[in-house]
Amino acid sequence: MNNSAKKKSGETLSMVIFIDALGWEVLKGRKFLEDEMPHRQKLRSVFGFSSACVPSILTGRTPREHLHWSYFFYNKETSPFRALKPLSWLPKALTERGRVRHLISRVVGRVLGFTGYFQLYNLPFKHAGLFDHCEKNDIFKPGGMNRGDNIFDLLERNKVSYHVSDWHDGEEANLQACEQAILNDDIEFAFLYMASMDGLLHQVGKESDQVDTKLAWYEDKLRDLLSTAREQFDDVRVFICSDHGMATVKQDIDMMSHIQALPLEYGKDYVAVYDSTMARFWFKNDLAKTMISEKLSQLDFGKTLSKPELEALGCDFEGDQFGELIFLLDPGSIIVPSHMGLKTITGMHGYHPDHEDSDAALLSNVSTPVPLESITDIFHLMRAETGMPVPA
Ligand SMILES: [Zn+2]
Repeated sequence: MNNSAKKKSGETLSMVIFIDALGWEVLKGRKFLEDEMPHRQKLRSVFGFSSACVPSILTGRTPREHLHWSYFFYNKETSPFRALKPLSWLPKALTERGRVRHLISRVVGRVLGFTGYFQLYNLPFKHAGLFDHCEKNDIFKPGGMNRGDNIFDLLERNKVSYHVSDWHDGEEANLQACEQAILNDDIEFAFLYMASMDGLLHQVGKESDQVDTKLAWYEDKLRDLLSTAREQFDDVRVFICSDHGMATVKQDIDMMSHIQALPLEYGKDYVAVYDSTMARFWFKNDLAKTMISEKLSQLDFGKTLSKPELEALGCDFEGDQFGELIFLLDPGSIIVPSHMGLKTITGMHGYHPDHEDSDAALLSNVSTPVPLESITDIFHLMRAETGMPVPA
């Protein structure tokens, strides 16, 4: 097959290359693809983890609108996890092992027919039946959102030919699939998904040399991909973006002990999910609400977010779906142990979007067709690049 003979003359390819956690502050002082991508700016992130940020990139909407935020939310009636309770009798030495939890998560996700990202993390089996999960569907597919359209709904409706990575696959496989689509398929738009920067930054922190090594790897791979694309298309418009940055962890907080010291019973008086950077509470009675609120007001490593603040962040949900009270830790502090993990880690995100380490980045080889301030604007950028109308 002679690919180079069929240059798509006069044709344009727009590519969005998503690199998870490639924050503005991560890039600071680093020359990542500066020659290729002279247009560089920071983007304000969305409050929450990737489970909130990526849906906002794919829809242009806030969590309140698309209904994707932290994975687990209290809902006993709709919980698909009630059958997990007997697993709480298994020895902790076994079930607290990361590999075992991964395996159980995979089986549970498959049995329940989830196509979205699903991990039980360290959520106790004993209480799993209290919770529902907000990413049951593959958000990179049409119809994947809990509410509203994503970019892929629009691309299909407007008959735009495109390639999107399979997020289940690793970076090498995604690069290869994207290259194949550029060579062989008649596409106008490509969305390349690269996720392993996030894991590395969690493990080693943004200051590490290993981040430079990883960036050099991306540079190599992306230069190759771009040169392939330029052999095929007259015009290749490239946008590298991220969902959030990464703060360096300085302090572990034993948040659960603060709450468990109160004369209240989990499940009877209150329900809580302890994410890495926030604790989310639902109250079964006024006494629990008063005692927990009072306790939280005494803690000096974070603060309870007010209703107006959550509203301004687009994270005020109907029926307080993701928590009646959200306590957010200051950047650099993490909850250990949490329902996300038992051990501490070097980097974390999921802090207030006002903090500089939360900022995402956008790098491009052309000036952007729409003004960009927030990661939600990446959706509008993709829409403009593919000539699609503003959705209702
Ligand atoms: Zn992460």
